[in-house]
Amino acid sequence: MTTNQLVLIEARENDIREVSFEALALAQHLKQKEDSIVALVCSKLSQKQIETLGQHGATKVIQASHPQLEEYSTEAYRQVLLQIIDKEKPSRIIMGHTAIGKDLAPRLAMKLGAGLLSDITEVRGEDSEKPFFIRPIYSGKAFEEKQERSSPSFLTIRPNNFQSNCLENIQHPEVEDFEVQLKELRTEILETVKKMSSKVDLTAAKIVVAGGRGVKSEDGFKPLQELADVLGGAVGASRAACDAGYCDYGLQIGQTGKVITPTVYFAIGISGAIQHLAGMSQSKTIVAINKDPEAPIFEIADYGIVGDLFEVVPLLTEAFKKS
Ligand code: FAD
Repeated sequence: MTTNQLVLIEARENDIREVSFEALALAQHLKQKEDSIVALVCSKLSQKQIETLGQHGATKVIQASHPQLEEYSTEAYRQVLLQIIDKEKPSRIIMGHTAIGKDLAPRLAMKLGAGLLSDITEVRGEDSEKPFFIRPIYSGKAFEEKQERSSPSFLTIRPNNFQSNCLENIQHPEVEDFEVQLKELRTEILETVKKMSSKVDLTAAKIVVAGGRGVKSEDGFKPLQELADVLGGAVGASRAACDAGYCDYGLQIGQTGKVITPTVYFAIGISGAIQHLAGMSQSKTIVAINKDPEAPIFEIADYGIVGDLFEVVPLLTEAFKKS
């Protein structure tokens, strides 16, 4: 039996988001011989971008472009996805566990009476017809294994957990320009206010330099930004730092903020409250800098530096500049 897999591609300001390549990588892992992988993008891509999707495993690219799809809108995307799912009849739909994926996947699953496995971080038994999907629960303190029990089924994947994968043989995907028919939308986007709180996208960053209440002021975040710039990373924060007005809430990491899985996470002047750990404890390597040797963050840190962050951070920045 062939299994069509549909992957929602997110393109932000015309750049394809890394999580979409990770979703294609998962589709490749799960692909049985004759399966097709359909990449859906709600915009027009360049020829080079289409080729790139092919290199990442897409056998077909559907471009659904429409003025009302230029900015994300729940209603418009929902309508397009339902039309494409009806046409392509995929048995599995994969998207990032991003603001869009978190909004869209449950609505579509509900509408179609389909199963949804959300926030997937790992897959096991990908060769079998019934792979196991792993997802963290209880703020990352435990994991559960789930299997699909419906067709179609929806999957959202946590960014930075699947390695994107370029095929050795260049594959030229079939391209379809889908004629979008939108029924009257009940909502209209009047204005989008873009808040550039960090130069690098926090949810996709491989390196995150996060500051807490110990950073003490908005100015105190400047050395952290310098360290992040040298490492090509993003700045994040604890809720206490956001509450104190040192930085924007868009940077908050934790139970009520963003959940991230970078390769390296610097926790600077952050005590390590359970609600903060919920957003970063799955990071591959955790480096804690705190003047209190008893700070709970050291219990989960791979590397710990006990010291004053205002001395340690500039030293680290200088050292990384030289290396
Ligand atoms: P603190 O706990 O005050 O820690 C500051 C640390 O800085 C201390 O360990 C101190 O030793 C160190 N320090 C001070 N000065 C220096 C210095 N010069 N050099 C080095 N170290 C120094 N929190 C989140 O972060 N994210 C969430 O999403 C979140 N959601 C929440 C949801 C709920 C329902 C609740 C109740 C709480 C939530 N919190 C969240 C808040 C959380 O409980 C903590 O209050 C918060 O994480 C503490 O932030 P902090 O570590 O920056 O501050």
